[in-house]
Amino acid sequence: MDEINHNILYRPSLGDKKLALLLDPEKADLNALPLSSDSHPDFIFVGGSTGGDTTPFVRALREKLSIVNCQLSIILFPGSAAQFTPEADAILYLSLLSGDNPEYLVSQQIKSARSIHASSVEVIPTAYILIDGGVETSTMRVTGTKPLNPSNAEGIQTIVDTSIAAELMGKQAIYLEAGSGAKTPVSLDIIREVRKNTSVTLIVGGGIRTPEAMQAAYSAGADIVVIGNHFESHPEDLNSFLTAQRSYSAAVLQCSGPTGEAGPSEQRSDDSRFMRLALQEAYKAQDAQEIPIGCVIVSDNRVIGRGHNLTETLADVTAHAEIQAITAASQTLGGKYLPDATLYVTVEPCPMCAGAIGWAQIKRIVYGAPDPKRGYQTYAPRAFHPKATVTSGILEEECRSLIQEFFKSKR
Ligand code: ZN
Repeated sequence: MDEINHNILYRPSLGDKKLALLLDPEKADLNALPLSSDSHPDFIFVGGSTGGDTTPFVRALREKLSIVNCQLSIILFPGSAAQFTPEADAILYLSLLSGDNPEYLVSQQIKSARSIHASSVEVIPTAYILIDGGVETSTMRVTGTKPLNPSNAEGIQTIVDTSIAAELMGKQAIYLEAGSGAKTPVSLDIIREVRKNTSVTLIVGGGIRTPEAMQAAYSAGADIVVIGNHFESHPEDLNSFLTAQRSYSAAVLQCSGPTGEAGPSEQRSDDSRFMRLALQEAYKAQDAQEIPIGCVIVSDNRVIGRGHNLTETLADVTAHAEIQAITAASQTLGGKYLPDATLYVTVEPCPMCAGAIGWAQIKRIVYGAPDPKRGYQTYAPRAFHPKATVTSGILEEECRSLIQEFFKSKR
């Protein structure tokens, strides 16, 4: 079930940042769209704050895409239940968590539930969070809600708390929205803080007008950047955004380089989700002034142990993230061997931890960034169990930059 539900938005993510084009059926001019088979965004979002049945528009869009030979997912981004059409590939099943209007928190969802359920459209439970972008948007008018205020620490905290609540409620995506035509996009600080505290797909839209702003949002942690209004008035800009998206991904892939016996090709669909949890552990270490490395151990899709580096706090050179997580996992399972577990760690294990991982008989190891200076591959390449497989490069850039920033701040 999991795999099916995640197949559109959950793309494992080494340098794999997505661009979505938002089309409002009431405004978009399909003839003016500069789409071709080798120049197109990753997704098309369809929806607007007003308007009804999107079926005719989705049909026309599908026809346009087939003429130019583009196989793109059409994802509904509905302003109301009336906009649902079973002809889309997926729907962002939005709940407006930034407002307290029950109509958009739950009632519209109930109105559309039966038709969505009866369709084969993939449902992506999504928290929709409006953030003040300096203009009054039609979403604000239609929903009668105020956006969250990003201009002070308390406001940012509320945005982060709302995002955490979204993940706790089981949302698979968080959509941070500054609004169509926003003067200021969602700030990089907010994207970073939400990214640090949540592990689901992070979508950011509103007010992003340049390829550089898109790249900055990716660096801060956005998985999908949404461009709408901008391409309606500047269709010719699509190519410069696509070039910037490709060069961002290429730069990330290049600095990862070849990483030993296994690479991103062997990654599994949940790898980035669990690496995100390991990163959350790393952020805990960072908050405690420790070298920011985190680890989780997963068995049967369940986290059975987690840990982060505690060498300073415990005044113990052996208190590495992996050791903490192995100890916790053994306690959870009540046995010292973990042959069915996968270990996720943000940085390539050192020889000591590689030894411990070998002793625990862990058969799958996934790490984020390589550590050519202190990693096991240089000193103890055979430390793991002989049948162990290694996957590297998952969320590599974020794992690496966390460490780099830490050492920079210590200099
Ligand atoms: Zn270690």
